[in-house]
Amino acid sequence: MSFLEHLNKQQVEAVHTVDQHLRIIAGAGSGKTRVVTTRIAYLIEEMQVYPNKILAITFTNKAAKEMKERVEGMLGEVAKAVQISTIHSFCVRLLREDILEVGYPRNFTILDSDDQKSILRDAYKQMQIDVKSYSYNSMLGYISANKTNFVDPVMAKANAGPWAGEQIKADVYAYYEKRLKEMYGLDFDDLLIFAYRILKDKEEVRAKWQRRFTYIHVDEFQDVDNLQYAIIRLLVGDHSYLCVVGDPDQTIYTWRGAQVDIIMNFERDFPDSKTVILNQNYRSTQPILNGANALIRNNRNRIEKDLFTEVEGDNPIIHFTAMDDANEPVWVASRIMALSHSGVCYRDIAVLYRSNYLSRGLEKALLDFRIPYRIYGGIRFYDRAEIKDALSYLRLLAPKQEDDEKELYKNLSIKRIINMPKRGIGAKTMELIEQQAEHDNTNMYEIIKQYEIGKGKAKANIQAFVALIEECRQLVDEISIDQLLEKVLEDSGYLEMLREDKEIERLENIKELISDIADYVENNPQGSLQEYLQEISLYTDKEADSSGDFVQLMTIHAAKGLEFDNVFVYSLCEGIFPNDKSVIEGGQAALEEERRLAYVAFTRARKQLFLSDSYGYSYVLDKLKTTSRFVKELPEEYLEEVGAKPRNHFASDVDTFTGNAFLSSQAPQFHEEHQDDMIQTFPNDEETSMGGAKASQNDRKSEMKHKKKGRIRKGDL
Ligand code: ATP
Ligand code: MG
Repeated sequence: MSFLEHLNKQQVEAVHTVDQHLRIIAGAGSGKTRVVTTRIAYLIEEMQVYPNKILAITFTNKAAKEMKERVEGMLGEVAKAVQISTIHSFCVRLLREDILEVGYPRNFTILDSDDQKSILRDAYKQMQIDVKSYSYNSMLGYISANKTNFVDPVMAKANAGPWAGEQIKADVYAYYEKRLKEMYGLDFDDLLIFAYRILKDKEEVRAKWQRRFTYIHVDEFQDVDNLQYAIIRLLVGDHSYLCVVGDPDQTIYTWRGAQVDIIMNFERDFPDSKTVILNQNYRSTQPILNGANALIRNNRNRIEKDLFTEVEGDNPIIHFTAMDDANEPVWVASRIMALSHSGVCYRDIAVLYRSNYLSRGLEKALLDFRIPYRIYGGIRFYDRAEIKDALSYLRLLAPKQEDDEKELYKNLSIKRIINMPKRGIGAKTMELIEQQAEHDNTNMYEIIKQYEIGKGKAKANIQAFVALIEECRQLVDEISIDQLLEKVLEDSGYLEMLREDKEIERLENIKELISDIADYVENNPQGSLQEYLQEISLYTDKEADSSGDFVQLMTIHAAKGLEFDNVFVYSLCEGIFPNDKSVIEGGQAALEEERRLAYVAFTRARKQLFLSDSYGYSYVLDKLKTTSRFVKELPEEYLEEVGAKPRNHFASDVDTFTGNAFLSSQAPQFHEEHQDDMIQTFPNDEETSMGGAKASQNDRKSEMKHKKKGRIRKGDL
């Protein structure tokens, strides 16, 4: 068979092992996924297995899509009957067929997290629970933990003991489950739990599904959790064969329950299984692979693997430290432009980052450079709900405009935030306000301001809201835009709402927006609020590029299993990556998981890996940034430092930062005249870095200024 010709000996052995359970353990890029797809093709073409007898479980929808494309590429139409999906989609399919077994209709409802929260909202109202004491997210976490451990509300209540708080949580859990049942609703956990229950308890159904699939494959098996594994085991009958592939060094979901023991102990559960180890990497060049191998060796809790590559190419890993966070994305964008000019397609470039909020700076730079991009598994920064909310508050603050149209535009803002946070304004009242505004040919805010709206608490809320907007309008010319935004979000209770709800990611996004505005203010000392809003509309109104060629942006978690010719790993700063919060909570084990995440990130690259970070002050971390240890752990021989300064130049200054010390003669000497060349010409790294140096000094000055004013206080947001 022709596609076998392209495999090495161990891979062929794995493909040929079709009468035994099989485990493939191997490092990144060693062809595990390729073995799965080739094995599927082999089964169909050589072993005459019906395509619909084959099941493959992938970790993400994107991975499922790619696997389907690969198999169809090898076999054509016939491959369409192979079942390739994530475990959640597979369970939905099973339930649409068999959920009647547990008395639910086939058209059951699937609840997303907004639906879940709205049930909690009702529960809190009925049970008079204050969201301040029990945030929705922590309550959902409690419910999920119980459900996936098969603790029902009655048991949860018994477990709660005499503690009132625990009792209340158990009561909410009971209410939640009751509501779900009433509406035949299933949350994401339920999809797995119901499938598991049916397979376990209903013998005939189990036998049917076991007969249905003779060959079951699971990719990314190192990230399977107990419940998923239980479902997989139930699908394996006496006459079916399980093939699992994974890399323990790429376990990145233990925080969500992934159990690396499952792949390690596979032989215990399937004693007659075979294990194949692959040791040749076909994805990356030597510097990339060797760098990644050296990095992961710093983890203590692992099994040593030896991976080699014969992929041609000896470009070192490029590392760039920008002097501030405005210059880092500009460097990334300019390198992307340079790649594009040299004939590289945008789609062969990916930018990966640790946390979603980091996409803001990147998106801005990419838009400025007119580089088309897409975000996978996430929402573009300026489309995120909290960013739209914050900008709506700002739009309301803009002084009255000559242009009536523009004034009416404020209606969109008011509708968006009038109940954000909750002020008790119902839909009916809003309708009346809108009608009155139309009648008076003005915007809805003016109506709220002029008329007494609502009764009781709602009325008081509205009055307080108007008073705040008016107060802030007075301040528009007094304080900077970032301060204004922080004030209005704080005093309106918006930030408190996010804090109560433990919306960490949303808070990070807001901090990032404030930090961005602070930069704007610094660069445009004369800039007015209107000008800022106009400028920002360039970013908010952008339509997604519809042509097929765009740079792919995503978190590292979303990049699992994928590969790209050119990979940028962005914002490799201590605290951001490794992520401080995770490490503080999870200690050494969490740090090792962060390192595995870095290993995943670096090994996505085929030809060229770019790493970047920046100095300066981080609003999100509330400290000065230093280069991530994950960069320092790469052997220098595989690394090329670009820019004017050696790696970690400031590390010691930064750690002992004492204000003026930074601006002393220790700071590197740069020629300021290069600074303005930066964007017009696609700079070599030296110029970019020099441009950054001056900005960094400003940055630090401004940071000291902010600190002095007490504007940024730790834990403020
Ligand atoms: P990850 O751990 O990141 O999921 P993986 O082990 O699944 O990686 P694949 O994605 O299957 O690795 O393969 C990596 C790359 O190497 C792919 O481009 C694949 O086509 C290629 N490849 C795999 N095996 C061979 C081979 N024997 N000859 C040539 N190319 C190969
Ligand atoms: Mg893979």
